[in-house]
Amino acid sequence: MLVNLTDVFTNEGQVREMDVSYDADTFTDQYGTFQIREKSPVALRLSNIGRSKALVQGNAKLTLVFACDRCLRDVDYTFDLSFDRVVVSPEYTGDGMDHEASMDDEDSAELMEGYHLNVDELIRNELLLNWPMKVLCREDCRGICKTCGKDLNEGECGCDNFVPDPRMAVIKDLFNANKEV
Ligand SMILES: [Zn+2]
Ligand SMILES: [Zn+2]
Repeated sequence: MLVNLTDVFTNEGQVREMDVSYDADTFTDQYGTFQIREKSPVALRLSNIGRSKALVQGNAKLTLVFACDRCLRDVDYTFDLSFDRVVVSPEYTGDGMDHEASMDDEDSAELMEGYHLNVDELIRNELLLNWPMKVLCREDCRGICKTCGKDLNEGECGCDNFVPDPRMAVIKDLFNANKEV
């Protein structure tokens, strides 16, 4: 979805508010492809903050389907995005602001296609910025058995997955050695 920002770039003090839709049903990144179960419209507030320069503020809520990090069950994970980015038009020549501000402008270059804001790219950016380290179906998910693959949340499988404490193993060896004498 592209939003034309020409009027915001050219009219001093201009503020525009709008809801736009994010059309994708799936989201693909380096971690795989994720189904988008729910999404709100993207609420945008576009403000002119100088010649050929605009502030893009807004929010959106998206629920993606992840696989639990331990048991691989489907887990809904909701991103409550809230963003605040500065974008510039192709005519922007700088406004004498400090170096840091011009860095921000360059950071947002990938969001623009000429005079248009690429809302899909904006959402993609925000999702990646807020990507969770790991998603669990519940905090105490017991995962799947390494031996038989059973989902241990549904009960024990009977496999012997006991990992002995290495210090205990030493004591056990000593004990067995003594017995042999
Ligand atoms: Zn789980
Ligand atoms: Zn098992």
